[in-house]
Amino acid sequence: MFNLEKITRENIKKAKPYSSARDEYKGEARIFLDANENALGSVIEGNFNRYPDPYQENVKLKLAKIKKVSIENIFLGNGSDEAIDLLFRAFCEPNIDNVILLPPTYGMYQVAAQINDIQVIEVPLLSNFEIDLDNVFNVINSFTKLIFICSPNNPSGNQIEEDIILKILENFNGIVVVDEAYIDFAEKPSVLSLMSKYANLVVLQTFSKAWGMAALRVGMAFADADIIQIINKIKPPYNINSISQDKISLALDKFSNFEKYVSETKKQRLFLASELEKIEFIDKIYPSDANFILVSVKNASKIYDFLANNGIIVRNRSKMPNCDSCLRITVGTELENAELIKILNQYVG
Ligand SMILES: *Cc1c(COP(=O)(O)O)cnc(C)c1O
Repeated sequence: MFNLEKITRENIKKAKPYSSARDEYKGEARIFLDANENALGSVIEGNFNRYPDPYQENVKLKLAKIKKVSIENIFLGNGSDEAIDLLFRAFCEPNIDNVILLPPTYGMYQVAAQINDIQVIEVPLLSNFEIDLDNVFNVINSFTKLIFICSPNNPSGNQIEEDIILKILENFNGIVVVDEAYIDFAEKPSVLSLMSKYANLVVLQTFSKAWGMAALRVGMAFADADIIQIINKIKPPYNINSISQDKISLALDKFSNFEKYVSETKKQRLFLASELEKIEFIDKIYPSDANFILVSVKNASKIYDFLANNGIIVRNRSKMPNCDSCLRITVGTELENAELIKILNQYVG
């Protein structure tokens, strides 16, 4: 059975978090002389002289309503990348523990593992990019702390069936991290609703994709309150700056704009897929639940160079498992997509 106490590193359990001025005094006061801030103001226009809210309550209250969770179940990070790193630091003992990755997948899991000196066990996805469940269960051992499931998966674009995720949640004693960076573009719903039932589920989402706020660096992790408490304890105290908090808070009031972007992106994805279909040197177009399309082409690096020479940059994913000669193309604006198709039609192999 999953036991959070058992899988948390000893040093993390013992660690006392940094206690900021804003932690020690949370109420209203007339005069704040507790944080060594510049009481006179900022050297440019705007009020940036006070430290931001360490727990981003304003953002979390709005987010809790939209996601139908309570604020104790939300962690906000400096991008989802910060949440990924903190999960390693909280639960994986360097040089002893391991994590399972399912390539081809998002590169940051591997980077975070390496930086934290954690062994990676790779279980490649099958040729249709589904999870090889038998092999996952074969390689899990008593030192396996995390499994990363990217759904929809980057770079393949497919969403992983909830049944498969459930099987892993129910049969694995570590933490199952489901990275839903692209969930807003997906056909089937988020696995967030499973959170109340599974104490070992962490769902990652982000403001960097459908919300269009990548520059602000804000990612979300949703999990059981006990997990959130542990990562809150070890995060840098003021990990989300006040500009990001303010702008994300404004964005959350514009849900209809968000919905407009999502539906336009899906419409463009459909257009792009149907146009790519007509191009003779594109062998396969993988179905996408994300805002990008993976295509298998006759000669990926040649086509990559041809596009680059024409000012269009896509991602060459050819070196990843089961992605031989594959390019990943992000869905652009209507004009950008039309231009891409025009240029591709000028290519002579
Ligand atoms: C883009 C992306 C993210 C987002 O990371 P941020 O740090 O929140 O910008 C997370 N996971 C995957 C799989 C991604 O492709």
